[in-house]
Parts: sequence; structure tokens; C-alpha cells
Amino acid sequence: MALDLEAIYTDLHRHPEVSYQEHRTASILADALRGLGLDVTEGIGRTGVVGVLTNGDGPVVLLRADMDALPVAEETGLEYASTEHGTDPDGHDVPVMHACGHDVHVTCLLGAAEALAELRSEWSGTVVALFQPAEELGSGANEMIADGLYDRIPKPDIVLGQHVAPAPAGVVGVHAGPAFAATDDVMITLHGKGGHGSRPESTIDPVVMAAATVMRLQGIVSREVAGGETAVVTVGTMHAGTKVNIIPPDATLGINIRTYDTEVRDRVVSAIGRIANAEAAASGALQAPDIELSDSFPVLHNDEAATERVLGAFRSAFGPERVIDPGRVTGSEDVGALATAAGVPIVYWLLGGLDPQLFTKALANGTTDADIPSNHSPFFAPLIHPTLEVGVQALVVAAREWLGA
Ligand SMILES: [Zn+2]
Ligand SMILES: [Zn+2]
Repeated sequence: MALDLEAIYTDLHRHPEVSYQEHRTASILADALRGLGLDVTEGIGRTGVVGVLTNGDGPVVLLRADMDALPVAEETGLEYASTEHGTDPDGHDVPVMHACGHDVHVTCLLGAAEALAELRSEWSGTVVALFQPAEELGSGANEMIADGLYDRIPKPDIVLGQHVAPAPAGVVGVHAGPAFAATDDVMITLHGKGGHGSRPESTIDPVVMAAATVMRLQGIVSREVAGGETAVVTVGTMHAGTKVNIIPPDATLGINIRTYDTEVRDRVVSAIGRIANAEAAASGALQAPDIELSDSFPVLHNDEAATERVLGAFRSAFGPERVIDPGRVTGSEDVGALATAAGVPIVYWLLGGLDPQLFTKALANGTTDADIPSNHSPFFAPLIHPTLEVGVQALVVAAREWLGA
């Protein structure tokens, strides 16, 4: 019996699960893949599920979908909106929503597995349908690799996948070369010397030190990154103090960096360290700041030749007017790790998911940034049709570019 993708999608949307807790999702997928006749391995990288469809000699094509949802309270007003709660890594109760659209990815990959199983007389090779946990933490792909992924399933010749995006449903977008930014987090603790707010001369004020550091950090992108290069440096958190008349002993800054080039990334990271140390010295700090680098996503580099092949397949399947180049996006993705670990190329594209009328209206009003909800927004509500159909077809036509006629 054919899979009812709309029912699967709305069920997953209603029951989202946060990173590494995708147990219900994983078991639904494992059952469905077995029903399609795939060899299924569960529990790779905690909750990862992989279905393998072996169909004679030929290339191994890995299709990837991520499964996790986010701690966001859904406000879409959809009939199938989530009211679920879950537990975040710190043990807090949080509302949960598929605000990044990973339920779209999962449903489309299931649909593609079904279509490729049905069409098996028309191609030869091996299809690996990989469902990954914890993309939102940036660690799920590496967790699967560390858990012996490529000892347990056939090693791919190509990695393919897609992300639903705030673009009109019906459209697909691919960018060759560096397509998704690398991201790095830097936590800095600046050490001052606490004391009474009325006697600053007896203290070393970490609040002023932090403020000067934040301002000086703004110079990195404008003065140390060339006009033709790109970087983003955002101070997202800044914490100090407990009471207005106390100068606190220290201050912390949480900094997020986005880059497309390793050399630029290394330059930005080292500039941040240099500035933090120099501002601490300028304040007369007795102790150097603690600087901790964490949560790295590498840059996602779409292989140029493989992207050309996918583009050609998309243009003939969808018509050239529905295939766009979205340029580089400053969002990040860990899917590249699956290709890097296998030493093979990757092509990862964007799948338009929103009501095209939203764009027509917002463009007419000049309000696209304000009116189009993007991924991670509580209002992010992909259109079911034609998003699912296009997402399934995109995976199938891209896979068949390698699997042959
Ligand atoms: Zn996301
Ligand atoms: Zn996502």
C-alpha cells in the first residue's frame, strides 16, 4: 500500500522531538522503511536510522534527512500545530516545534525511498536513506560517524540532501561551492576585580572591559576581512553583575561567528582572542581572559561538478524557471560531515516551502524581511502541497543522476 505522505507529515509535525530524543520519529521511520523492503539499522549515533536498498551493481547514493525539532512554542495556528513539550539538554521543560521543517525532510526522504523502491527495475546501484539526529546541535552527523556509520552501511559515492527554506513552494535552489556558512561559538570570560559600586578606583571593572571588547570586536569584519570575503561576528550574550551598587568580579560574552573560508575563519577567531586579551590588558586586568571555542559547524561546500549534474536534472524535471541560485546562505549545516568522512562530494539544496502568494504580497509591499517567516520562527508553516511532492521528486531525480537509467 502506498504511503500517505500528508498523514505522515502532519503526524510528525504534531509530535516533534528535540535533538537526540527523536525516538518516536525514528521508530515510525524504521517501520516504514522495513515495509518498503529496505534493510534497516537503528540506533546509529543514538537515534539515527538508516535504510539500505540494494539493487545490483552501481554507485551508492546517500540521501540524508535530519529529524530533530526545536524548543519553540508553535504559533502557526495550523490545525496540526504542535502542543508538545520536551526536555532540553539542561533538563528544562520546553515547548517543542518543527520550526526548522525537518519533518518535511523526513517525509520527503520516506517518499523518495518508496518511489525508488517502486522504480527499481529502472536503475541499478544502492540507495542509502539516512535519517540523522541532532542537526540543530551541529553534532548529529559526527555522532553517527563516530558510532561506526560507514562500517555498518555501504560507503556512499555521493551525498545528497535538502533543506526546506523560506522560498516559494515549487522552487528548488542550489548554489555551487561554499553554500552554507561555517559557524563557531566563542565564550569569553573577562576577569576584573569586584568591589563597591561607589569606589570604582578600588576595582577593575569587567563591565567596562566587556563593553569595550564588544565595540572593538565590530572592527574585525570591517577592518580585517577583505571586501570580497565575508564574515559575521555577533555577540549574542553578555552577562555580568547581580546588583546596581556592586562592581562584579567578571563578565562573560558569547560570540557567534559565520564564515565561508577556513583561512578567514582562523583569522577571525584569532582576532577575537587578540582583542579580548588586549582589552583586558588595557583595563589592567590581573588575569588573562578565558577563551573557549565550541560548537563548530564546518563550511558546507557543494561540489561544483556534482552540483552541475543536479542542476541539469532539476532543470529538466522542474523547468529552468523553478530552479534558482539562492547564493551563499549564512545558515549552517552539519550534513557535510557525512561526505567529508566518506571522502566524497556532496550536493545540498534548498526546497521552497512557503505559500507563493505570501511572496507576491510581501514583494508588492516591500516587506519580505518582515512578513516572510523563516526557519526557527514560531510562525514557520510550510505548505504541504506542492512542497512534499517537489521534495520527493528532487531527491529521486538527483539520486537517479548517479543511479543511471
Ligand atoms: Zn534549524
Ligand atoms: Zn534545519
